[in-house]
Amino acid sequence: MEYSINTFEKLLKTCTDTGKNIYEIMQEKEAYDFEITVESVRNKVYQNILAMKSAIQNGLNSNEKSYSGLCGDDCEKLKTKYYKKKAIFGHVFEKITLYALATMEENLRMNKIVACPTAGSCGIVPAVIISLSEEYHLNKEDEINALITAGTIGYIISTKVAMAGAVAGCQAECGVASAMSAAAAVQIMGGTPKQIINAAALALKNLLGLTCDPVAGLVEIPCVKRNSFLAIHAITAAEISLADIETKIPPDEVVDAMVQTGQLMSPLLKETSQGGLATTKCGILIKETLKSKT
Ligand code: SF4
Repeated sequence: MEYSINTFEKLLKTCTDTGKNIYEIMQEKEAYDFEITVESVRNKVYQNILAMKSAIQNGLNSNEKSYSGLCGDDCEKLKTKYYKKKAIFGHVFEKITLYALATMEENLRMNKIVACPTAGSCGIVPAVIISLSEEYHLNKEDEINALITAGTIGYIISTKVAMAGAVAGCQAECGVASAMSAAAAVQIMGGTPKQIINAAALALKNLLGLTCDPVAGLVEIPCVKRNSFLAIHAITAAEISLADIETKIPPDEVVDAMVQTGQLMSPLLKETSQGGLATTKCGILIKETLKSKT
C-alpha cells in the first residue's frame, strides 16, 4: 500500500481511516517502498530484535573497559547492587536500567549493537522493548510490532531533522530514542495509536534542549548512563499517555520545537566537545590524560 506519511497528524489520520495500528501502516509502507513483502519487513525487524538481545546478554556478561578505560564496568556494578538489594521500583526498573547500560557498554567496546536511532543512543529502545517483553511474556510478533512502532516515531522525526548530536544536540539522539521507546511501551501495553503518538511527544517534549557535550569527544561520558535515565523517562511518558493525559502542544509542533531548539543551540554544545561537561575542569583533565597516553 502506498502511504505518504511525514507527520504524526497524517499517521494518526491514516490509522483512523484504515482502522489499522501504527505498525501495520508502517510495515505496509516499507514493503511498498522497498518492493518486498510485509513478511520480509517483519523478518528484517526480527533480526534487529535478536541482535538487541545478543548485545544485552553480551553486555551483562562483560566488564571489559573501553579502549579509553573510562567506562565499561557500570553494568557489572549495577548488577552486583541488584543481587544484594532489589531496585526501589522492582524488576522492570532493574531490567531497564541494566539492559540500557549493557547495550551501551557493548557499543563502547566496539561490539555489535543496533543503532536505534544512533549508536550513542543504542541502549534505550532495546532496554524498554526487551525488558517489557520478558516481564509481560511477549511473543515474537509482539516484539516485532513494538520495534516497528518505535521505528515509525523515529522515521517521522527524521523527515524533519537529522538524528545527530552534531545537528540538534542529544535531544536528536537519546531524546528521539526515548520518544521511540515510549511509543513502543504503549504499543506493548495495548494502547491506541493516539496514545502511542502522544507518549512519544510527551517524552520528546521533556527533553528539549538536551545538549551533546561528550567528554574528550568520546561517546562515553555522559552517553552511557544517559541511556538508562532516558529509558526510564520513556516509561513515565508511556504511563502518563496510557492514562489519556495529553500533551497540550500537538506532537508535530513538539517536533518543530525540537528542530528550532537544535538550530538555536550553540555549536559548542553540538558534539564539538567545546562546552558543557566536556569543558569542566574534570572533563579537560580526562581529555589531557588520554592525550598524554597516546
Ligand atoms: S551526548 Fe552526544 S555523543 Fe553522547 S549520546 Fe548524546 S548526542 Fe550522542
